Formats: sequence, C-alpha cells, structure tokens
Amino acid sequence: MDNSVAGKIEATSDKQLAVQKSLVRTFVVALTMVFLGELGIMRVLAFFPDLPASTAAFLDGVFLAALLLPLWFFLSHRPMREKTEECDQERQKVLKQNAFLHTVLDALPFPFYVIDAKDYRVQIINKAAGINVAGDLTCHALSHKSATPCSGGEHPCPMLEVKRTGKPVILEHLHYNQHGAQRVMEVHGYPIFDEAGNIVQMIESSMDITQRRLAEDALRRSEASLQDFLDNANDLIQILDLKGRFLYVNRAWQMAMGYSEKEIGSLTIHDLLHQDSRESSIGLFSTTSRISQAVGHELVFVAKNGKAIIVEGNITTQMEEGAPVAVRGIFRDITKRKQLEEQFLEQKNITEKMIKFSAVPIFVLDKNHLVTNWNKACEKMTGVKAQRVVGTSDHWRPFYPSKRSCLADLVLDGAYDSFPQFYESFDTSTFLHDGVRSEGWFDNVGGKDRYIIFDAVPIYNRAKELVAVIETLQDISERKKLGEKLEQLATTDALTGLYNRHRFNELLEQEVARARRYHTPLSLIMFDLDYFKNINDTYGHAVGDQVLQEVAKVIRENVRATDWVGRWGGEEFLVLCPEATEKDAVATAEKLRGLVESHIFETVETITISCGVTRFKAPDSIDAFVSRADDGLYRAKDKGRNIVEIV
Ligand code: GH3
Ligand code: MG
Ligand code: MG
Repeated sequence: MDNSVAGKIEATSDKQLAVQKSLVRTFVVALTMVFLGELGIMRVLAFFPDLPASTAAFLDGVFLAALLLPLWFFLSHRPMREKTEECDQERQKVLKQNAFLHTVLDALPFPFYVIDAKDYRVQIINKAAGINVAGDLTCHALSHKSATPCSGGEHPCPMLEVKRTGKPVILEHLHYNQHGAQRVMEVHGYPIFDEAGNIVQMIESSMDITQRRLAEDALRRSEASLQDFLDNANDLIQILDLKGRFLYVNRAWQMAMGYSEKEIGSLTIHDLLHQDSRESSIGLFSTTSRISQAVGHELVFVAKNGKAIIVEGNITTQMEEGAPVAVRGIFRDITKRKQLEEQFLEQKNITEKMIKFSAVPIFVLDKNHLVTNWNKACEKMTGVKAQRVVGTSDHWRPFYPSKRSCLADLVLDGAYDSFPQFYESFDTSTFLHDGVRSEGWFDNVGGKDRYIIFDAVPIYNRAKELVAVIETLQDISERKKLGEKLEQLATTDALTGLYNRHRFNELLEQEVARARRYHTPLSLIMFDLDYFKNINDTYGHAVGDQVLQEVAKVIRENVRATDWVGRWGGEEFLVLCPEATEKDAVATAEKLRGLVESHIFETVETITISCGVTRFKAPDSIDAFVSRADDGLYRAKDKGRNIVEIV
C-alpha cells in the first residue's frame, strides 16, 4: 500500500473523477429517451387513447417541456461541461505536479514539514522525517513529545519565530528522535502567506547537525589544547604569511622579543632580523627560495628593546594543495647559551694563555694520553718544541731513553699501585686532591742534568669523569745541589770528609735498630793516632791536619762499601761494620792498622794507630756499645799502642 503523500492524494482524486463521469453519462441517457418519445414513438394518446385530448395535449406539452427543458439545460450548460473537462485536465495536471512535488519532497535527505500556522498541525511530512503523517500530529508533539508549542525554554522555537516575525528563520534547535535521544537540529523555517497576507502555513526543514556539533566541539577542544600547547611551549613559534607578515606568534616568542600580539600586526620578519644575519637568512623566509625546510638554522633577531636575540631552529614552508601558504618557524632562544659559550671560550683562551705563558713548565694530557698543552717554560726546560709533542704521546722523550709511563700517565690510568715500579720516590699526600708528586735526578734534560719535581693532578669534569691530567715540572737542581751541600756540611767533618759525630750517632742508631730487628751481627772499631800530640808539636798544626786527612783517606778507601767511617773527635775515629762479626771486625781493624803503619805520610813519613774492637750485644745501649770499643782502645794504648784489642 502506497502510504506516501503523493500516493494518497492521487487515489482520492481518481475516485471523485469517476463519480462525476457516471453522473454525466446517466443524465445524457435520460435526455435521449425523452427526446425519442416526443418524436411520436412515445405519444401519450398512443398509450392512453381514452384520455381526453386536452389532457393528452397537456401531457404531451408536459412531455415536450420535459424534453426541451433538459435539452435547454444540457445545451445551456455545455460551456460548463467543457469547463469541467478543462478543470479536470487542470486538476490532473495539478495532481501530477503535486505527486511530482511529493516525490521530490520524499527524495529530500532531510526532514521537511508543512505546518498549519493556526494549530501547528503537520499537514505535509516527507519520508526523511521518518514518521507516518497519519493522525493529527502537531510539530511539537512530533519532535518534543510535548502537548504545547515550544515555549522557548531551553531553545527558541523556529515556528514561533516564523509566526512572530513573519520572516524566514534559521535556528539551532534541540529535537528528540523516536528513541528519545537528543539531536541538535539546524531548523529552517519559512512562512507561507494567503492572499490577505496572513501566515497560513509554515515550512520547516531541518538538518541533523549533532555529529557536526560533536566534531566541532572535539575540534575546538583539540584546537584549544593545541593553542595551549603552542602558547606554553618554551620555544619561540611564529607563522608568517608569504610577505613575511606575522600571522601568529606564541607567548614565549612575545616574552623573548618584547612585542605584544597586537604590535606584531604591523611588523614583518624583515624588521626583526638583525643586520648581521639579515642577508644570510632572509631567503629562509621566502617561499620562492624553494627551501621547504631549513633545520638547525641560527639567526639573530632584534627584540623590541634593541637587544640581539640569538635563536636556533627550523623553518618550514606550509603547503596547501601544492602551493605555499605560510612559513612556520620554531626557534629556541640560545642567547644565554651563546653568551656562556663565549664566556667559556674566553675563559678557555685565558686558561690556555695562563698555561702557555706560565713560568712553571706545564704539560697536559687528555684522557687518551695525548699531549694537549706543552707550555713555553716546558719548551725551555726540555728543549722540545710544543709543535713537536702536542697531539702525540711523546712527552716521555725529554726525560727517559725509551718509552715508558710518566707520572701523568699513571694518574690518568689510576695506576697508583704501579708507582713504586716506576718511581723510587713518590708522594700521594700533596696538597692537591688526588695529586701525585715524584722527584729525582734526570740526565740531560734540555742539555743538562736536572733534579725535577713532577706534580701530576687529575682534572675531572662535572660528571666526575677524569678528562685530563696536568703535570707541572719544577727544576730544583740548584736548590738540590745547595741542599746536598748543606747536608754534607751538617753531616760530615770538614777536615776529613768523614761523617761527623752527630751523623755517626744517627748511623749508630739506624744500624743498632736493624741489628736488633734482624738479629744480624754488628761490630765497631774505635782507633786513635798514637802520639799525635808530638806531630803537632814537632811539625805544626797544619801538618797534623794533613796527617789526619791522609789517615782518613786510607781508612775510607779500605773499608767495605757498607761500612760507615766517622770522626768521633780530635784524632779519634770509628768504623761501624754492619753484618760483621767480631772476628770480621778484628780482621778489618788489623788490616787498617797495618795499612796505616805501612803508609808513607808526606812529612811525618810514618805513624801508627791503636784499635779497640767490640760487637753489639742485644741489650746494649748505643753508649754502652761505643764505650766498650773505647775500653778496647784504652787497653790497646795501655798495652803499648799499634795493636788491636777486643772487648
Ligand atoms: P796517645 O798516644 O796516648 O794517643 O798520645 P797522643 O799524643 O796522641 O794523645 P793526646 O790526647 O795527648 O793528644 C792528642 C792531641 O791531638 C792533642 C790535640 O792538640 C791534637 N789534636 C786534636 N785535634 C786536632 C786537630 O784537628 N788537628 C791537629 N793538628 N791536632 C789535633
Ligand atoms: Mg792519640
Ligand atoms: Mg786521643
């Protein structure tokens, strides 16, 4: 069954037409019959011969009248009939048009209603409305399940608006579908007027824009969050049009450059580029340069206050349908970093110069043991030019005959345990944290023998990683020689060159301690020149001195390298013999006594010595030990001199 609007109207019209046609046909048949009777076939006397003639004539007259009257009626109404046919055709046309119109309405993808302006009843409704028009529905009952026209509470009613204003309206309106779900509709209302100018009907068509609204809301939210993201980004973000005018700058950009959003409206990128970078960078913002992306570019902008802002970033051309539409830039303000870099470079330069021109010889090794610095003083000390050694690991050359680790290398390797292997003397307790000191004599460093103190100090970066070692060199040869001289003066006897009593006491302590600890033998010889006073008296003091020197020489040259010889006082001497038993010491004393006896002295020709010998006995004090040797000497003198006595 065709329930459509067009279908129903067509069915109703066809029925009416059929009734009209059958009425016309009946009327024509009746007229024909009356006409035939009057022609004689149906005269009254022929049927009723007994009727008086006047009556028959009257009746004939009546029949005739009955015949003529319809004829007259038929004829007089002919134009009307024709008119009816015309109407009929017209109606057919209108009906067809109506049907066409309704077909069109049904084909529309959105709901369409014709609403009675009087009572808001829906007169025409199309298929897209999705509801059968049967029943006396009002528009408010249809879309709001409401008994009264929309009051405009939650939203204005389009039909009320059309009726109130008499004008077309477009309103956003909330509807409820058959399942009760709320839909956002864009409703178009249109008034239809009668000839008197009153609104009789209203057209309502609507579009469901619920999805669009949701999408718009989502887009708005995502745009808002994108905007928020851009505004809160630390990077400077800008969008330029093709003429270099600003379309957008974010908050960080405004903060850095000092221009407000309003002010940038009258600026172009050309106004903000520093003259130093204008020539090199102007092309980056021109879409004709064909650079669609410039990555890691460094630029200098000029802020509102005239300060140079150094930025680094990416510039991209925004394309739409193959054509450039804007130039986007995202930059990082690196002004501070640049300043720090410059400060750092300046500092580095100063440090380099400090090292280079320091009066102290310095060289620096990087973590790969390559020389990075070799200063002027180092060149002077070693005779090796910086250019010969920087970038190599040849820093050992001035100091050693073959390649080996230097102090800085060991520090770099953290090889603190290896120090004894490489250095006789080293000291890790320098005032420099983790620094190590070593010193010693080096042959032919820069043309002469030098006593050098090396200080190697590790340098750590902020991540506490060892990155370099700085080694300073101090040539203290002169000081060392002087010191040695002083020490010699302090420890040796000026006349004979033998250890003095003070130093010999120290040696005694040292050797007694060792003998105690290791239970090794230790013996002592004390000797004295016989009748020495006579020499002084006979030849003078100077000859006496000469004799003392010669005796000392004979003794020194004829004892073991490990024996210590000292002048105890006047013409009394001691020979301390580590690792020597009493027997060994007696033999030594005998040997020495014999050598002196047989030695020909320059003036006096011959002299003799007397010796006392003793060995160290564990509980002995040093005094007791020496005293026993003295006793031996005394006994030797007593026994007639030029002999060795053991105690
Ligand atoms: P004895 O055989 O008993 O040892 O007799 P002596 O003469 O050697 O002993 P004495 O103690 O009587 O004399 C030692 C002398 O040595 C006295 C002193 O003038 C002399 N003498 C001490 N020191 C020096 C010195 O440095 N140079 C010189 N020339 N004589 C010295
Ligand atoms: Mg004497
Ligand atoms: Mg004496």
